[in-house]
Amino acid sequence: MSNTTFVTQPYLPPLKDFLPYLEEIWENKWLTNNGPMHQKLEGELAQYLKVPYVSLFCNGMAALQTSLNCLCIKGEVITTPFTFVATAHAISLHGCTPVFCDIDSKTLNIDVGKIEELITDKTTAIMPVHVYGHPCDTEAIERIAKKYKLRVIYDAAHAFAVKKDGKSILLEGDLSMLSFHATKVFSTLEGGAIVSHDLETKTRVDQLKNFGIQNEESTPNIAGNGKMNEVQAAFGLMQLEKVDKQINHRKSIAERYRGLLSQVNGLRVFTEMEGVESNYGYFPVLVEHDFSMTRDGLYDLLKVNQIHARKYFYPLISSFPPYKNLPSSHKDLLPMANKYAQQILCLPIFPDLELAIVEKIVDIIKRLG
Ligand SMILES: *Cc1c(COP(=O)(O)O)cnc(C)c1O
Repeated sequence: MSNTTFVTQPYLPPLKDFLPYLEEIWENKWLTNNGPMHQKLEGELAQYLKVPYVSLFCNGMAALQTSLNCLCIKGEVITTPFTFVATAHAISLHGCTPVFCDIDSKTLNIDVGKIEELITDKTTAIMPVHVYGHPCDTEAIERIAKKYKLRVIYDAAHAFAVKKDGKSILLEGDLSMLSFHATKVFSTLEGGAIVSHDLETKTRVDQLKNFGIQNEESTPNIAGNGKMNEVQAAFGLMQLEKVDKQINHRKSIAERYRGLLSQVNGLRVFTEMEGVESNYGYFPVLVEHDFSMTRDGLYDLLKVNQIHARKYFYPLISSFPPYKNLPSSHKDLLPMANKYAQQILCLPIFPDLELAIVEKIVDIIKRLG
């Protein structure tokens, strides 16, 4: 176990750094419901991410479900099958039907050229995902949304701090959802957020994460409990101080991988898109047909060598039992998603990953390539 390198590993500062936060919580005797740590983290995150309003959640899933509730989304929601299963589950649990759209070969995000043909009179929203933090074609999505009067909710679980042309990617669409799960670039153990553009929307989101309660005597909406507690918020305040440094560590690891893997036959490495400031949350590669081994072969070989890479996002959501019989799940309609799900492999990347391990991984790959 201890010698295995996983695809990710959370960054943890020395335990003593966390104790002053806990002492403050004990003094405050305020554990949840928009406590002082919570208020501080919302303010600091909005400033750090350069977005107007942040609403914190106990996890990203609750944030996704609340964003659908906030915008009263009904009917069909166009999304991608090449994502973590939470995206489609949030749509389904909200009582809507996910409609899967194929992905493009450059970013592995929703293919904006194939969205319009999926729109029906039941379509009310698009839920694209910035997979691996690669920005979607937000301008094209905006154009389609305007033309057909659809709402856009971004699953931005991977896109913490990602910028395009100096502007936060989280400002796109009607709402963006973030995940602060332990495996993500910025973590509050479990956690998440919704980014909104105006105070009215933030206020609505904040009510909908607290049972729909407006005030002591009025509950105008049905909603669940998505509140973040003070210990989570304190952990986030501690992590936020160090997140730039952690992203920089990730960057040097990504650069080392890219430098060493650029010449390997049949292995496609993703490069930074023009004008994009990345967070280096993942290091995906595509094992193409002219590589000397299949993706599964490479995955197994790395595993024998105690390197636990992950096949994110294989299998496609559209192949899981609750979704596989939907009309949009048919393999013929999702050729690129099916192709890349067979080729994708995410290599380990996290702030404390030693460059010697990166070199070991590259050696294993190069001996084959
Ligand atoms: C992590 C993740 C989620 C869910 O977030 P949680 O905080 O784990 O609930 C949703 N969508 C995507 C794409 C994710 O990677």
